[in-house]
Amino acid sequence: MKKFIKENKIPITMWLLFETVAVTLFLTTSNIFYLFNFTYIGTCIAVGLLLLSHKKKYARNFVQLGVGLYMLVYLGIICRENMQIEGFWYYLFLGVFEAATIHYFVAKIAGPLFFGRGWCGYACWTGMILDLLPYKTPKGERKNLGWIRYIVFLLSLSFVAGLFIFKVDNLENIMFWSFIIGNVIYYALGILLAFIFKDNRAFCKYICPITVFLKPASYYSYIRVTCDHSKCINCNKCVRNCPMNVDMLDDSRKRKYGTECILCGKCMNECPKNALSLDK
Ligand code: SF4
Ligand code: SF4
Ligand code: SF4
Repeated sequence: MKKFIKENKIPITMWLLFETVAVTLFLTTSNIFYLFNFTYIGTCIAVGLLLLSHKKKYARNFVQLGVGLYMLVYLGIICRENMQIEGFWYYLFLGVFEAATIHYFVAKIAGPLFFGRGWCGYACWTGMILDLLPYKTPKGERKNLGWIRYIVFLLSLSFVAGLFIFKVDNLENIMFWSFIIGNVIYYALGILLAFIFKDNRAFCKYICPITVFLKPASYYSYIRVTCDHSKCINCNKCVRNCPMNVDMLDDSRKRKYGTECILCGKCMNECPKNALSLDK
């Protein structure tokens, strides 16, 4: 038992973290949805991390589909919760701390202090589709286009602020349709950019407004890839295969594209010397 806990401390810690959120929210709100929601997501992520640590090839796709489809289809389409960034602004302006605001706080604002951009690697329903495209390893240099994300971020904020300033009616309905239309645009743009740049994650690197929240906290992430340099033979296979262009051989917080790591584990799987790990 001790050996199992030691070898799987990251999946176990992750599950406990989500379970703590699930139980705390259930007890404070008396809403059983939170118990189900965070237990389900935490269990999917913990099982995926467990499979990943045993080098199972489709571990991450399993989690992405389990969590991504649940959020997109069940929460977004069936329950009509706008879980996009517009939904976050909407509930924030209403002063309601539930649904999208809780989701953003856990997955994208506070959570990244612990699990970095795990959201992007394991749960995002946009990333879930982009990762199925052919350019899993980016071809060519990364472009200097990250500034676009800030424009999209401001547009999403202005859109929702405008609805409140001009006292537009039927906001719930507008939020539902902006979720549907927004996702169609994100998917279309994401797929188009992947083929133009020959890089599945081009949308994540240049366009996605959520990274404005994700990047600052993930700089301090507790879970991160580090290198045991006594094992490393400097073959560079890890860096060449990273979908996010992270320089994971540099252990410092300031490493190149360090806040882009989605904890996908590809570098660790590719390393012939098992020199990379998620241990601190
Ligand atoms: S960067 Fe944006 S689109 Fe990409 S996986 Fe993260 S949240 Fe999803
Ligand atoms: S390949 Fe490694 S460094 Fe690159 S995103 Fe995946 S886990 Fe992070
Ligand atoms: S793949 Fe492994 S051995 Fe090669 S450079 Fe990366 S960490 Fe070092």
